[in-house]
Amino acid sequence: MRKHIVTFIAGDGVGPEVTNAARRIIEAAGVNIEWEECLAGAVVFKQGLASGVPEETINSIKRNRVVLKGPLETPVGYGEKSANVTLRKLFETYANIRPIREFPSVPTPYQGRGIDFVIVRENVEDLYAGIEYMQTPGTAQTLKLITRKGCEKIVRVAFEFALAEGRKKVHCATKANIMKFSEGMLKQTFEDISKEYPSIEAQHIIVDNCAHQLVKIPEMFDVIVTTNMNGDILSDLGSGLIGGLGFAPGANLGNDIAIFEAVHGSAPKYAGQNTINPTAVIFSSLMMLRYLGEFEAANTIEQAVLVTLQERRTLTKDVVGKQNATSTTAYCDEIIKNLGKSSNFWKLRDYKPLQMPLISREPMFVKATSKVVGMDIFIQSNLTAEELGKSLEQLVFNSPVQLKMISNRGVKVYPLTGTSTDVVDLWSCRLMTKDQSELSDHLICTLIGKIGRSHAWMHLEKLTYFGDRIGFTKAQGED
Ligand code: NAP
Repeated sequence: MRKHIVTFIAGDGVGPEVTNAARRIIEAAGVNIEWEECLAGAVVFKQGLASGVPEETINSIKRNRVVLKGPLETPVGYGEKSANVTLRKLFETYANIRPIREFPSVPTPYQGRGIDFVIVRENVEDLYAGIEYMQTPGTAQTLKLITRKGCEKIVRVAFEFALAEGRKKVHCATKANIMKFSEGMLKQTFEDISKEYPSIEAQHIIVDNCAHQLVKIPEMFDVIVTTNMNGDILSDLGSGLIGGLGFAPGANLGNDIAIFEAVHGSAPKYAGQNTINPTAVIFSSLMMLRYLGEFEAANTIEQAVLVTLQERRTLTKDVVGKQNATSTTAYCDEIIKNLGKSSNFWKLRDYKPLQMPLISREPMFVKATSKVVGMDIFIQSNLTAEELGKSLEQLVFNSPVQLKMISNRGVKVYPLTGTSTDVVDLWSCRLMTKDQSELSDHLICTLIGKIGRSHAWMHLEKLTYFGDRIGFTKAQGED
């Protein structure tokens, strides 16, 4: 029998109870795994290591490439970063896979509808890159960075995952109707790459409608690929459809490293009580077994959990309430007793090995000629739009650029529009070359110098054409 070595992080709070439950069941099913126990999270923060992830843990993950992990507390008042996010970023686990499937005996308004879909969430880009600036004391900015490379990776994983699980349809959920460049990048990439997977139906859906349809007709979905923040929200919505966090497993997949963990956190108020539902982490560990090629053992355990739930004899309190509940340990003992039995509740899926897309480690530079034709200079000012506009017109008079317009919070406010737009003290002033000629860096510096003598400029964006594609959006109301 093949032996696997897996890095095992028990986790904080209820972590040890749920991860050890999964480990015990895997061992009872006869899978040959050597667990390399490593630390991360609260205990490490308390030792004074700001990252929450010690070198030994990092080295173990690098060696073994597969991790079963419990939840880690995000420090409040000590330490700095979330150890979870650190792990995801260190190992570029760019795909977060969250299956949502109806379980037997779990009371929900959707019982009997056969909910069975997977959210494939981009895991490292988007607003979660955490690049933030205070533009003025009253205006905060977060950069939403979406890259072609990141989109290609996540879209390919979604299609490959669909193939591995014998699924037929992939939806791509975006807000491309509003964020045409960033969310639009995922939509465009999805449309390009879906052509390489003709056996799978590919459909774009606007993310807000996706949320609406998930509540109305969740059974219509098979695989949903989406950006980081959309995926975070949709997957929690999905967990709610099938009975809550006790039933929401997950995997973080990278090029060659995979971290398996439940969606839920350390639920500190239940720590040490032996009452928590370990199903989410058990199903995360089944994803791990399939990733390791242990399909038979994964199916055996899956069936045993379903039988245990169907029997309704030993269930945790989130399913049957405190009065009728049994302990986490008793639930696991029952699952172990049921190894070898089969349930008719889920149709057994024809799982195949997941082919992670081959991604070059080289940076991806999308080539296109570029031409800068202007700049948006963001100015902090207490002037009115008209006062600022007149001042800038004077300052750039006799130069190759002209003030095209000023916008405030994305809405054109100068030349005056007569609307009652609410304004703040951060103005985006669009200067463009008079004849659409190239705006040189030298001229940009001269203009900044000149404007900076009269106004507090906070940052600027170049207005660029890439080939014949415009690389900037218009403000609301701009012609
Ligand atoms: P949480 O630990 O997920 O718990 C929130 C609630 O969800 C619990 O109070 C409980 O609801 C329910 N719940 C969670 N796990 C359950 C399970 N296995 N079975 C049944 N019900 C379950 O979220 P939190 O309280 O916001 O976060 C606590 C800590 O965990 C924080 O430090 C947070 O940063 C961290 N966290 C870590 C991860 C991770 O490691 N990946 C993920 C999320 C959060 P009831 O109260 O209704 O019983």
